[in-house]
Amino acid sequence: MATVIQAYRFALDPTATQRRALASHCGAARVAYNWGLALVKTRLDQLQADPSNRVPWTLPDLRREWNRSKQQVAPWWAENSKEAYNSGLDGLARALENWRDSRRGSRKGRSVGFPRFKKKGHSRDACRFTTGAIRVLLDRKHVQLPRIGVLKTHESTRKLARRLEQGTARILAATISRQADRWYVSFTVEVDRAVSASNGSTSVVGVDVGIRHLAVLSTGAPPIPNPRALEGSLRALRRVGRELARREPGSRRRYRTRCRLARIHGRAANLRRDAMHKLTTSLATEHGIVVVEHLNIAGMVRNRRLARALSDTGIAELRRQLTYKTTWYGSRLVVADRFYPSSKTCSVCGWVKAKLILAERTYTCEACGLEVDRDLNAARNLAKLAQHVAQSGWETRNARGADISPGTFGQAVMKREAGIGSSSR
Ligand SMILES: [Zn+2]
Repeated sequence: MATVIQAYRFALDPTATQRRALASHCGAARVAYNWGLALVKTRLDQLQADPSNRVPWTLPDLRREWNRSKQQVAPWWAENSKEAYNSGLDGLARALENWRDSRRGSRKGRSVGFPRFKKKGHSRDACRFTTGAIRVLLDRKHVQLPRIGVLKTHESTRKLARRLEQGTARILAATISRQADRWYVSFTVEVDRAVSASNGSTSVVGVDVGIRHLAVLSTGAPPIPNPRALEGSLRALRRVGRELARREPGSRRRYRTRCRLARIHGRAANLRRDAMHKLTTSLATEHGIVVVEHLNIAGMVRNRRLARALSDTGIAELRRQLTYKTTWYGSRLVVADRFYPSSKTCSVCGWVKAKLILAERTYTCEACGLEVDRDLNAARNLAKLAQHVAQSGWETRNARGADISPGTFGQAVMKREAGIGSSSR
């Protein structure tokens, strides 16, 4: 048995009054955040004149300051749950901490800038509740939140409700958020799960996330197709994207087109995520070792080409889901080294192509003459990586499923095999 934190998200069907209450709480969180940020900026300026000045960095500090000033800043504060203001201040405290850690060099990843003010209509509308009446009702069609009351859910809460009734789950928090014009509630839940040490399978599978397909497996099984409805969404995405470019900045029409674009985007992402869940569950239950490629997440958001962006989010989502599912179901996850050239290497003889553009759908080996689907070739190379790992008796660092990264191992294998001095992607 292991305790894991899981999120359950449900779309909501609020009444008009509830919509206003939801928006009001998110607005309140934003007001508190912006007020706190302005205060921190002022105090930082004063700090230069008088070093004895105190800057409220932490949530308790910010909360104390807020309670002292709320009557003046927001005389209407009682209209919303106090959790709303707390949520905004909490977000600010975290943002400030990330910035400080990043500046000190104690934070991994891309450098984090100083927090910026949140603008209505531009920032994500969200508000988090951690105390008070947070419930999933027995009818599995309603949830209850502090101050906002009982809300109808758009879909059944069955999966979560069942666990709550069995006593294998506890709700820690609930976050309301808006995506385009739809409201969601996401429960952060502590779940007791049975965790198996091994699923009994010794097979190795390499997974390459594609664009034309959801994924291609090294086993030679037919490629897993994209959900059919996704194609329609992608076409709409391109069309509405062009439409947006023609709209006058700041106009009413531009705003409407942007909402539409966000809606299609959300739908495409949901479709792919759902399909990905089916795939990752079957991978983690049917195979002993699952190998995926490395993805540089910090660099990925910068690429604006739709195809690339989709495949990048696909890899990230695949890896995220496999990380916990391999733990649940007793298989192992191997993440290839970031320089492992899985696409450019011949999966039969190990020859490495100097260049492979995205449009080349077939891999043609100039050394042994192999002609194979590009994604299948990449998947086979990934599987090979783990076979080497197994053969060399290399102990997987973490059999409980946290990312098993072969580190520079992938590179070493490729060098020996292909006789190359340095690897390239
Ligand atoms: Zn070859």
